[in-house]
Amino acid sequence: VVNFNAGPAALPLAALEQARDELIDFEGTGMSLLEHSHREAPYEKVHREAIALLRRMLSVPETHDILLMQGGARGQFAIVPMNLLHAGKSADYVVTGTWAKQAHEEAVLFGNMAGAKARVVVSTEKDKKFARIPTKDELAFDPSAAYVHITSNNTLFGTQWQSYPETGDVPLVADMTSDLLSRPIDVSKFGLIYAGAQKNVGPSGVTVVIARKDLIAGGRTDIPQIFRYKSFADSESLFNTPPTFAIYVMRNTLRVLEEQGGIEALTRENAAKAKLLYDTIDASPDFWRAPVEKASRSIMNVVWRLPTEELEKKFLGEAKAASLVGLKGHRSVGGVRASIYNAVRLADVEKLVAFMREFEKKNG
Ligand code: PLP
Repeated sequence: VVNFNAGPAALPLAALEQARDELIDFEGTGMSLLEHSHREAPYEKVHREAIALLRRMLSVPETHDILLMQGGARGQFAIVPMNLLHAGKSADYVVTGTWAKQAHEEAVLFGNMAGAKARVVVSTEKDKKFARIPTKDELAFDPSAAYVHITSNNTLFGTQWQSYPETGDVPLVADMTSDLLSRPIDVSKFGLIYAGAQKNVGPSGVTVVIARKDLIAGGRTDIPQIFRYKSFADSESLFNTPPTFAIYVMRNTLRVLEEQGGIEALTRENAAKAKLLYDTIDASPDFWRAPVEKASRSIMNVVWRLPTEELEKKFLGEAKAASLVGLKGHRSVGGVRASIYNAVRLADVEKLVAFMREFEKKNG
């Protein structure tokens, strides 16, 4: 099958094959990696390699630490304010989708407990559609904000920041759950980046955090240790038992992606995949309709509609029968969504496009 699921999502076959081959006896140790201590060499090597791969592939500067945590991106919705939202301060949130909205709500909750505030700078929730990224003029940030929070790619609505906002001395925090490692980023421009791994970089269970060292050092100390970035930075993310197998499969995935040519090759292929799909949609505006503003289109999650809901249902059913799975739009949005993360190759999108043209011919 070709897997267009939004997450957990497709993983490179070679990464899974390696996990299969090594499952019972990891590197001749007579034990599965699942059975190894996280404090001994066989696992530690995997752990360090995963972090080193992320650092190399994303060109993470020495000013930033890479942390491997748990709790997913939603965990970070709470953990970011717990660390960075000091008493008496306010944080700025740009609300471009459901995830961004929930991140803001979590910061409000923590702020209520901790003597701080979280403000919505702007929301693009017109008619609940979130069909665009805000313009520069709409982004009037508070110059004394604790941080500015954005969602880099809006998985449900298919929008993506094409360039990141300037926030001056205010740290920029980005949820990159659905586009980390899909295009180059200048990490030095960010105070903190976080991503649940389960879309572009690995399986579910591990959360990648890339944070400026001074922000980690200055984080709140009146929160439980397990939620402090500092606990993870000081222990090379071995503060407690990490999700060892998830990190191992992420390591395998990163190895494959690096061998494929790393971020440069991924950027090229991801752009080609998205172009092919959007060109197909745009070629028949009477049949396919992309609701997102062109300038805000995501290269990771492509959403579109058909003339009627009946046709959408038929399309999804026939696609599934043709082994093209995971194309149903999010339940809150409807329509069709193709998630074309790193492990979905150009040839896979070509299959989808061929199927679409055939479907349009029969039903258009
Ligand atoms: N943020 C974004 C942009 C997402 O796409 C998702 C999941 O789909 C989440 C947050 C929630 O992630 P998690 O399930 O890891 O908490």
